[in-house]
Amino acid sequence: LIDLEHISKSFDGEIVLDDLNLSIKENSFVTLLGPSGCGKTTTLRIIGGFEQADSGRVIFDGKDISNIPPNKRNLNTVFQKYALFPHMSIAENIAFGLKIKNKPKAYIDDKIKYALKLVNLAGFEKRSINSLSGGQQQRIAIARAIVNEPKVLLLDEPLGALDLKLRQDMQYELIRLKNELGITFIYVTHDQEEALTMSDTIVVMNQGYIQQMGTPEQIYNEPENAFVADFIGESN
Ligand code: ATP
Repeated sequence: LIDLEHISKSFDGEIVLDDLNLSIKENSFVTLLGPSGCGKTTTLRIIGGFEQADSGRVIFDGKDISNIPPNKRNLNTVFQKYALFPHMSIAENIAFGLKIKNKPKAYIDDKIKYALKLVNLAGFEKRSINSLSGGQQQRIAIARAIVNEPKVLLLDEPLGALDLKLRQDMQYELIRLKNELGITFIYVTHDQEEALTMSDTIVVMNQGYIQQMGTPEQIYNEPENAFVADFIGESN
């Protein structure tokens, strides 16, 4: 579904991604895993169109989307900081993108209801953002992404700010959502356990390179090099 071809990116002369090649299948849950600073977020931002690669191409559904702006890519992104609008109600937050697209009110209301049900917050339309817990806010951010019916959801450490129990609940919720919606998830985390629990495919990155790509079982049982073995081993 998505192919990164020979993606390179430097910031201020520092190479962050070096000739990265990655192929992501439709309906998969792919996790970019690696230590802080290895280039995970930059990779996600290049897929989302928030960052331009210095060289290489992003192919989506067979088309080169490298020069297409983020809002025209049929991808939606949920960041760690939820970036909800605090002065708007939950319904207004979720409706925001749909209103920009001039969708009719009845359509928007239906979509809000549907999305809130999916994230287990049915009936929360009129509540204010400030009255929600961190986990609930993150669910609203996900609901807001889902109503746009993206083919791909990009998630950058979406559970990073949550405590352990809530994070585990949300992990299962995200897996359920992915299965129910039948869309592709590209997920960024530095948490080995989270990656092993949630993913179909894990891409282990270090210093701008892909160290290994495989199923959680392959990554865990058959690390291809010392870096992967050490990094995965740290969680035990
Ligand atoms: P983390 O888990 O800490 O977010 P990461 O693996 O997602 O790390 P990136 O955010 O992709 O890593 O950053 C990779 C490197 O690129 C870091 O050294 C970072 O400082 C640098 N970098 C990222 N964005 C920029 C920017 N806009 N300007 C300058 N340097 C940047």
